[in-house]
Amino acid sequence: MRTTESSLFRQQAFIAGHWCDADNHATVTVTDPATGQPLGQVPDMGEAETRRAITAAHGALPAWRARPAQERSHILRRWFDLMIQHEAELAHLMTREQGKPLAEALGEIRYAASFLEWFAEEGKRVYGELIPAPRADRRLMVLRQGIGVCAAITPWNFPAAMITRKVAPALAAGCTMVLKPANETPFSALALAELAAQAGVPDGVFNIVTGDAVAIGGELTRHPDVRKLSFTGSTAVGRLLMAQCAPTIKKLSLELGGNAPFIVFDDADLDAAVEGAIAAKYRNAGQTCVCVNRIYVQDAVYDAFARRFADQAATLRVGPGLQADSQIGPLITPKALTQVQGLVDDARAQGARLLTGGDPHVLGGTFMAPTVLADVRPGMRVLREEIFGPVAPLVRFRDEQDVIRQANDTEFGLAAYFYTRDASRVWRVAEQLEYGMVGINTGMISNEVAPFGGVKQSGLGREGSRHGIEDYLEMKYVCQAV
Ligand code: ADP
Repeated sequence: MRTTESSLFRQQAFIAGHWCDADNHATVTVTDPATGQPLGQVPDMGEAETRRAITAAHGALPAWRARPAQERSHILRRWFDLMIQHEAELAHLMTREQGKPLAEALGEIRYAASFLEWFAEEGKRVYGELIPAPRADRRLMVLRQGIGVCAAITPWNFPAAMITRKVAPALAAGCTMVLKPANETPFSALALAELAAQAGVPDGVFNIVTGDAVAIGGELTRHPDVRKLSFTGSTAVGRLLMAQCAPTIKKLSLELGGNAPFIVFDDADLDAAVEGAIAAKYRNAGQTCVCVNRIYVQDAVYDAFARRFADQAATLRVGPGLQADSQIGPLITPKALTQVQGLVDDARAQGARLLTGGDPHVLGGTFMAPTVLADVRPGMRVLREEIFGPVAPLVRFRDEQDVIRQANDTEFGLAAYFYTRDASRVWRVAEQLEYGMVGINTGMISNEVAPFGGVKQSGLGREGSRHGIEDYLEMKYVCQAV
């Protein structure tokens, strides 16, 4: 199938239920990271078009929030059904623009769809409260209502799931939304808008603007009618957007960078730990915010773990995502490859030992060989910065307190993982790790029913789970004299 033949391939933005171009007809070219060739264009929009989208979302709000939750739920459920019906087409489109192996893209489409299904149900359970009053002639109640017009800005590493994880709870809660997807991966977003329209999402309830991130982000954060911003991306941009939202006191959900430690204690099941580390390090070519960034291995098992882990990493097949047996696709851009290579070179220059990989892959382009570095020491950039590539640094540690201190020694606090068979250590370590999410004896933790999010400078709020809808609700206290 050629991407451009897909019935869901749209090269226009989606505002007020209409497909539209930029006012000045300018476009941004989207590239296939596996070939470096252009895949298509999307409108290069700015402030004026964003304002129009906000006006559309504001106009659509009263009718959408007035609908019974069950009606909104049925529409979201239809959207879920359409995603599943078109899963192969959506996965293909995603692999073309994002690069991840097709099987992973299909996994993401199902994961993305699961948020529509989940929040279609949760939207029906937005219960209020009755509070026993402190005096006899009063009745106290709490209503929970959708916050209003929401803005979302999403990244390229999960082009579908990062969108549905925001838009599903927003729409379920009776909010309307303006979304700016990443310029690297707008086609997955636009395909979702087409399916939303087919599912019966009314005009103006879900809008997509593409183009100039600074201009669009500026307008979304400045506009007083936007009551909330949900952002997934880097901590640097999150910090900037938070500041931009301050003058209008918008509610914020931020899913920012991570620096996930993966700790292997000497009582761990080593085979399971190797398997878990491979999965949590190399999926999406290491380009996820919960990807393992630092692997700490206790003295007694360090050499055995390093050998087995590096052997497994070396067998991972690098190739274009559309090739059936590929396990690691290209990195998103040439710049990403340069950054990852820079971290490897820096570590090696400071004495880290290369166990496998270390260079761009022979395929060229932005393909990078799976890389394992041993004898990495505190202070090296590769332990402090988010790697976002298929590079695993191994660090030797002595005891539990020592490794907990090292694991927590970062401004980030998104995901952490550890492997042990000691039941009391499970609790001790889980409680002391300063992270929003902890995987114990597993490297895969994300699903729609659990709260995803970070502490410290990894963000604010939670997505998914029964808590994910809270970020789109406001409480209203109602006091009645009787
Ligand atoms: P990444 O490094 O993963 O690309 P970014 O934080 O740069 O993460 O990008 C995440 C999203 O934020 C993308 O949609 C991008 O276009 C957008 N973005 C980047 N810079 C800005 C900005 N100054 N204002 C608003 N959005 C931005």
